Amino acid sequence: MLLGHYAVALAAKRYAPRTSLGTLVLSAQFLDLLWPIFVLLGWEHVNIVPGLMAASPFDFVDYPISHSLLTAALWGVLLGAGYYVLRRNRRSAIVIAVAVLSHWLLDAVVHRPDLPLWPGSATKVGFGLWNSVAATVAVEGLLFFIGILMYVRATRPRDRTGTVALAAMVVLLAVIFVSGFFAPPPLSARWVALAGIGLWLFVPWAYWIDAHRAASRVHGGGL
Ligand SMILES: [Zn+2]
Repeated sequence: MLLGHYAVALAAKRYAPRTSLGTLVLSAQFLDLLWPIFVLLGWEHVNIVPGLMAASPFDFVDYPISHSLLTAALWGVLLGAGYYVLRRNRRSAIVIAVAVLSHWLLDAVVHRPDLPLWPGSATKVGFGLWNSVAATVAVEGLLFFIGILMYVRATRPRDRTGTVALAAMVVLLAVIFVSGFFAPPPLSARWVALAGIGLWLFVPWAYWIDAHRAASRVHGGGL
């Protein structure tokens, strides 16, 4: 899943108004930010199998550290606790931990059964939404739309950058999402991991957006 994770980050702003969208993107996407690093280190493995699923050619051979339910929960506790130590904001810390864990739950909706419950677990989870491009686009598109709506209502732009930087990120994410259905499958796992490292870009980008927007107390703050 791609857009759905950003949707969680955008929506979470409503529940953690003092926390930057950058921190929320880091949290909701944390497992996918770790994953390419672990692939490049050779700790986790992926194969490219064109046609494996209608909406994904990725055979996730193993990813026990980034993508097991147990480690997802632990990463969530770690990020939430880290935030609490720095900011002393219990509510935001809980939102952050839940956002990290939500990644595994959303991935479970789209992946085939390849998500382990814990490292080495024989039980693997996945409900296979990626078997249908139409269903994938409908679910991810709807989640993304709701997320954007919630962020735009929870904040208002301080200046023009607050509008333009947000719109640009939304458009780029949508382009990346859609191009995944048309682009030829990636050449190698290494290529996928290097492209995955590129997703780190959205963390500082989201901090930048958030710095140019203020929390809105009134509903219906404009884009
Ligand atoms: Zn993931």
